[in-house]
Amino acid sequence: MSSEAKTGVVGPGGVKHMKWWGWGVDGVGFHHEGKPKFPAFVLKAVGLDLLAAVPVSEPSFDDVPIAASIAPAALLETLEAIVGKDAVVTDDLLRAIHTYGKSLRDLVRMRANLVERWVDVVVYPADEDDVLAIVRAAVELDVVLIPFGGGSNIAGSLEPIAGETRPVVSVDMGRLRSVISIDDDSRLARIQAGSMGPDLEEQLASKGWTLGHFPDSFTHSSVGGWAATRSSGMQSDKYGDIADIVRGVRVARPGGVLAIQPAPSASNGPSVREMIIGSEGRLGIITEVTVQVHRIPAVRQVNAYFFGDWASGLKAMQAIAESDAAPSITRVSDSNETGFSLATSKGSTGIAKFVSGTVIPKMMTNKGWNLDDICISFIGYEGSAEHVKRTKRLVDGIVKAHNGFGVGTGPGVLFDQKKFDTPYLRDFLLDRGAAGDVSEMGAPWSRLLEIHTAVYAAANAAYDQLGRKGWIMSHLSHSYHSGACLYFTFAFVFGDDPIGEYDTVKRAIQQAFVDHGGSISHHHGVGTEHSPWIEEDISTEAVAVMRGLFTSADPGNNFNPGKVLPD
Ligand code: FAD
Repeated sequence: MSSEAKTGVVGPGGVKHMKWWGWGVDGVGFHHEGKPKFPAFVLKAVGLDLLAAVPVSEPSFDDVPIAASIAPAALLETLEAIVGKDAVVTDDLLRAIHTYGKSLRDLVRMRANLVERWVDVVVYPADEDDVLAIVRAAVELDVVLIPFGGGSNIAGSLEPIAGETRPVVSVDMGRLRSVISIDDDSRLARIQAGSMGPDLEEQLASKGWTLGHFPDSFTHSSVGGWAATRSSGMQSDKYGDIADIVRGVRVARPGGVLAIQPAPSASNGPSVREMIIGSEGRLGIITEVTVQVHRIPAVRQVNAYFFGDWASGLKAMQAIAESDAAPSITRVSDSNETGFSLATSKGSTGIAKFVSGTVIPKMMTNKGWNLDDICISFIGYEGSAEHVKRTKRLVDGIVKAHNGFGVGTGPGVLFDQKKFDTPYLRDFLLDRGAAGDVSEMGAPWSRLLEIHTAVYAAANAAYDQLGRKGWIMSHLSHSYHSGACLYFTFAFVFGDDPIGEYDTVKRAIQQAFVDHGGSISHHHGVGTEHSPWIEEDISTEAVAVMRGLFTSADPGNNFNPGKVLPD
């Protein structure tokens, strides 16, 4: 019952899905035309000649050999009795869309027909009662349930475990997409878990509110998915991570609804709310969250700044975090990522125009900077005009004290416009036989330079091992009192063994994180991709406690088994 609309694939109840083989919807993609410096940049970075490369044609779903669903008639009848016949789907395309998220590993496997275990049936509940009934039936019939929000995760959190012999049911939450109510007094909104970013912001904005949670995947991810993966949005410096934003939660479990009231803070034992946040579907299905919301700010702007090198940029971000300034975004790219931003800038616009003229490069050399080392930074300001003015004045002073300077809001506007388009770059590279992917982590300020150096060394050693020219770049985002997130992007041209080669580079980077005091992820979650390092990250005893939680909460291993902790 699926239909290929221009906006993507549409399931029962008008639930919109991304395309099965890549990011986003059909007809939208990354293009290098109009970015004159990009081909030369890619050639130098990874040895790929974009002008000569012939992209593969769009994968055809007809070529995908999908294993038949093993959902027994009794299961389908039970589900149909709960949600209605039209909302239970064994259609191949919808099963494929629900089998994976959007990690590089997922996309490579989907394109190369390397899927080991398909989802057997997709069910679209309409409300919490439906979800509760599905959960109870799943335990009774001993099937596997995997909650599905937008399907955007990149940590292997959605895939059925290879060799799973029980039927696998994907529970698509897309019909639960309403802002239920807003408590204006307390600034709290009750929102159904399947609400997608643009939809929920539109509903909130119609009443003058915003959630302020804008991950790069905003257009194709849900509030339930954000909570289940401990997501973080671009403006987290002001609004907090989803773990701060979600105050109350309702979770459908076999025994009933687990309901946590939205207290601003509570001393009621180990936080069950925190156990649910990041649980990736292992403790039940989140049906609703109560989140803190904010009045839409009067002013919202992003300013660009330059620093002479990475160490100065990092120090400036730390000084901003320690100061009285309260910006919404603090972000600085290292010199490699700055080079990438300059190369993806359109010829006559964006930051490239600042460094292709003569005035600003002269200013930089006068400061003693090496132009290959420069780092671009974006600082966001949101709030009342007075707040923005004061914060900007404080930030400008800190930038100056670190020998940097500002170039105004022009590049910031473009940064804002481009941020949701960049995810399409990965499919563009895959079409041309190259990998582009990311790893990110959080660590104290005192470890960030060390981790940055260690990750570069690890990635370059992995490229040497593969005998390949590879690329690595990084930025700092999401600042806190005690530390920040470093986000790394890596790229190389595939040889004969794409997954094996990807593993070599990805593993080297993840190992460098834990070896140098970083977490295995700051906001992408654990899934199956990062679980090999969880014990090194949180300790053997912590893993034992977590395993006890999963085992007692889900003795039949029915809820998204194998995620967060390997079984
Ligand atoms: P899904 O991918 O559908 O599910 C993720 C996990 O949550 C699965 O384990 C699933 O079973 C579980 N789950 C989903 N809904 C529920 C529910 N209602 N109850 C219980 N469990 C549930 N993440 C960030 O935090 N910040 C970013 O800036 C960011 N940028 C990204 C950019 C790109 C291009 C991509 C591909 C991903 C990015 N991500 C980012 C990762 C991803 O978008 C997040 O992990 C997101 O929170 C997943 O939400 P979702 O609705 O798509 O969840």
